[in-house]
Amino acid sequence: MDRRLVGHAFSAAQEISIADFAIVGWLRTSARGLLSGDWKVTQDSVSKNVLDEIDPKTHSRVMDLVRNAGVSVNDWVNFRKGPNPLRAASNPKYCYEWAFVEPAKVVVLNLWFDSMEEQSGTVRQVINPRQFGISMGRAGRKTWERRASRMDLCIQQAARTKIPIRVIVCQGDMRTAEDPDSEPSHVYRRALDPEPWAITSYDQTTGDCVVTRGAEPDRFTDQFDESVGEGYPDQRDANGKVFVRSAEVRKSALLRADGFCEFCGVPGFLKYDGRVFLETHHVVPLSEKGRDNITNVISLCPNHHREAHYSSRRASLRTILQVKVQEANDKLIEQVSIPTSELS
Ligand SMILES: [Zn+2]
Ligand SMILES: [Zn+2]
Repeated sequence: MDRRLVGHAFSAAQEISIADFAIVGWLRTSARGLLSGDWKVTQDSVSKNVLDEIDPKTHSRVMDLVRNAGVSVNDWVNFRKGPNPLRAASNPKYCYEWAFVEPAKVVVLNLWFDSMEEQSGTVRQVINPRQFGISMGRAGRKTWERRASRMDLCIQQAARTKIPIRVIVCQGDMRTAEDPDSEPSHVYRRALDPEPWAITSYDQTTGDCVVTRGAEPDRFTDQFDESVGEGYPDQRDANGKVFVRSAEVRKSALLRADGFCEFCGVPGFLKYDGRVFLETHHVVPLSEKGRDNITNVISLCPNHHREAHYSSRRASLRTILQVKVQEANDKLIEQVSIPTSELS
């Protein structure tokens, strides 16, 4: 996540809360650096170190890395003609796969170093193995189609069950998705990243996926994460106008709520994809020039969200919700503030 976006989202809050929310969010960078005001410097050194740390320096065998990540490799010795422990590491049934899974424990993905994006010390990769598999299938490349769709299934499993991702970072010549006749990929160096990753976004419909280093799996969701159709009061205003909302602000409000309606305190329901569902709501509507930041966005259970829009007491509710948001923000700042003695 871009730290500057967080800053923007919190522009109306006090200076310190910018850093606080960044910590509470999925940035796990040193709080000291953020709060001591020198985070620009921190950011630069972090970025350099992070990429350097990830760039593989060795060329390890896939089987060893998969085992180190916590996936059983017991079956690698089994070939069609019977077991052969000496050749286990080059078992074609496994060694060319792009993804591995140990159910309920871990998913291991092979990712290209050159396709990783880094921003403010956070590294992520945007992938869509499902689409890749479809285009390979159309070109008659059945093996790649199968490997890609298996990778997509592993990602789905990780997204659904919130298990961590471990990444085998690969350096070498990547084959291109656009050209099915290009040379097969060749890996010169590969290593297991010591830091766990997580699926931070997965679109069931398209297969679009974002994997982020050092992130927590996405635990919360709201009405905008999926096109649930018309009928949501926030989708458009009375004149049909659609307002653009910051996804970062919504996510911050959901993290702050931690799965409970910020008005009545009841837990949101568990969605089919394993995430907790609440609805995010602008206390002062965007159409009334309400701010699109965390001081004006609240997470509500579906019932109270409808009430906030349609109830006979909606005017007085708005005042209450404003107080609730303020209290929630204050509480959060209290929770994450760091004793000044630690800010050397
Ligand atoms: Zn409620
Ligand atoms: Zn609303």
